[in-house]
Order: sequence, then C-alpha cells, then structure tokens
Amino acid sequence: MSYDLLLKGATVVDPGQGRHGVYDVAVAAGVIAEIGERLDGPARQTIRLDGKILTPGWIDIHAHVYAGATTFGIKADALCLATGVTTVVDAGSPGWTNVRGFKEFIADPARTRILTFVHISSIGLLNSMRGEMEDIHNADPERTAQVIEMWPDLCIGVKVRQGRLQVGENGIEPLKRAVEAAEMVGVRLMVHIDQGVPLSSVLERLRPGDIVTHCYHGKGDNILNGGETVVPEVYEARKRGVFFDLGHGAGSFHYEVARKAIRQGFYSDVISTDLHIYSLFDPVYSLPETASKVLNLGVSLEEVVRQTTINAARAIGRDDTLGALIPGAVADIAVFELKEGEFVFTDSHGQQEMGNRKIEPVLTVRAGTVYHPADLQGEIEETRQRAVEMKSITGLPFGAVKKTEPRLK
Ligand SMILES: [Zn+2]
Repeated sequence: MSYDLLLKGATVVDPGQGRHGVYDVAVAAGVIAEIGERLDGPARQTIRLDGKILTPGWIDIHAHVYAGATTFGIKADALCLATGVTTVVDAGSPGWTNVRGFKEFIADPARTRILTFVHISSIGLLNSMRGEMEDIHNADPERTAQVIEMWPDLCIGVKVRQGRLQVGENGIEPLKRAVEAAEMVGVRLMVHIDQGVPLSSVLERLRPGDIVTHCYHGKGDNILNGGETVVPEVYEARKRGVFFDLGHGAGSFHYEVARKAIRQGFYSDVISTDLHIYSLFDPVYSLPETASKVLNLGVSLEEVVRQTTINAARAIGRDDTLGALIPGAVADIAVFELKEGEFVFTDSHGQQEMGNRKIEPVLTVRAGTVYHPADLQGEIEETRQRAVEMKSITGLPFGAVKKTEPRLK
C-alpha cells in the first residue's frame, strides 16, 4: 500500500487503544491508514523516529485563544502545532454575543482544531480586569443555549467561573444559570473553582460529565480545604462522573496541593494549560511543560498521555473521533522526546522544583500535515510580542496570586 507519510520506529503510547510499544504509523489522505509492527510503504515521506514517543495528538481542554477580542487571549495556533497539541479548547472566552466572531476569526482560519465553551456571561471573558459575573444581568441561559445549538461542532459546553472575584455578590447564582443553559441544550459544563465560594456548594450542583477546572489550585476553597487530605465531596463528585481538570494558568497550579493529592492517589483526569497572556511564557509555556511537571510528581508517562489524549477527548465528549490512533480517523499525531537531565519547573505561586525528566516536542501531525517546532518560531515570537503589548496595557491580572520570589525547593 502507498502512503503519504510513514512514521517509523517510534514507541507508540496510546492509552485509548491500549497500545504501548514500537510500531510504524502510516498516514494517507489526512487519516491514519495503518498501524503495524513493520510497514514498508512506499510513502511520499518517511520519517525515522527511533527512541521517540509517538502519541495521539494532544488535546488542551483549557486555554484562552480569542486574541485581539479579549484582554487575555493569545494567538495560539503556532504554539499548539509546535507542542504536539492538535485540538485546543477555549475555556469560555466567548459568550453568546461574540461567539460568532470567535468562529469566523479564530476557529475557522486555524490549522489547529479549535473548539470552545460558551461563557454563561454574555460578554464572555472580554475584560480580565473585572469579574464577568459581578453583574448577574450578563447571565443569559436562553441565548447561551441558542448559540450552542447553532454551532454544535464548535461549542462543546457552557463555562462559568465560581470565585468571589468573578461573581462578586452573586454567590452560586451564575452556576445555577450555567446549569440551566447546559440542560436546555444537553451539553456539559466547565466550572472554574476558586476562593470565596465553598467548593461543596459548587460540587453538589455538578452532573455526570461536567468538568471542574483548576483542581490543584492552592488558594482558599480548594480540594484539600486547608487540610492534608482530599475532601470527601471531591471523591463523591468523581464517583458521579465529574471530571477534574488541572488548568494550570497563572494562579491555579500549586505544587503542594498537587503533591498531596497525587500521594493520596487523587490524580487529575485531564492535564490542561489555561494558557493566556499572563501564564504564557511563565509559568506555563506549553502543554508538554505542564505534563512534565505532573510526570516529575511521580505520575507515569502512560497516565500523563492518557490525561492529554483519551481522557481529554472523553471530557469534551469527542472520544468517538479524537484522542486515539485508529485507522480511518483523522491523522492527529504528536511526537515527543523524553529528555533526561536536570530541569527547573515553576508553579503558579513561584515555587520552583527540579525534575529529571522533560517531555520535549519533536513534531506534530495535524490532519496529515507535518509541523516542526523550528519552522513555527517566528509565529510564536509574534504571539509573545502581542502578549507583552497587551500586558503593558492591563498590568497584572485581576486577583493575581501573590508570588514568592522564585525559589527552588
Ligand atoms: Zn481559564
């Protein structure tokens, strides 16, 4: 059989298909053609990947990519393709008023597959300097449901942020309205958890398939609730089918919380970045960088890949087509090198830790097209410049977490 692309000799890690071993992967007409112990082609392009790790294309279920129309959105296309991410989900930058612009100007032109949650706030996350739900009049379940129904391929669910800074005096009301919108159209909900709103009051309202993001945040009202052990309500929610997403960001990944939770066997279901202008080049950088932090906390490579592929696909309800390498499915593939050495990683509070393994992107295949990180550096520099420009206007984000001087533990 003749192929367009033949990737030879990599160690395939595909938890969704239960595959872990050395295989060749062939691509034809933008889809996975074949996976086998030895495929000989001919192929128009053959790439040897001995010693490298080949996985399904990674899915980042929490980022902010509505660049130019929200204060903290980044131009993420090149950055995704340079780091193994073939699908990126915006966690509620658009609301019902501006989701059409998101579709036309961001999602449709992108090479990366871009999906979104629609914020229950009609204005989405337009202005990161104010809480989008301080004014409850911005919450409009009917119209939110209506746009999700209009663009179901793009809009995968409803987003709400439930912290005191985002909701002001409105307590749990934004969440109630977000659930109402989600029920109207039969989609999932992603809820940002944060200080100032009791976690139990959020969790008790979540339904099977809903997603809690920022599960390892270290501010008040987190999964440890000031103690040492993960609170029972968290386990109860997981038992019901609620997903727990990492959502690193500038304020929501705390080494101490993550370490305590992981030691107790409480792993996130999904690893995501929460990339935006404030988190982009420090401390998040990319999804592989975030995943490397989890890896160095003692979670296996297999589990880390599960959380960035099949689990992420399940959390967004797309595991029928994404998150695994299946002949006939779109050829979204990531290739990494597992580097060994001494690496410094930083959490959202400025705490630094050494790690001895790092997942480094080698190449990305998106719908059959090969992207090399080196070829995307110019575009990534532009992304960085735009973030610097916007930060010069906004200053620190609203409610920025207090950072210690970076220190090594
Ligand atoms: Zn976010």
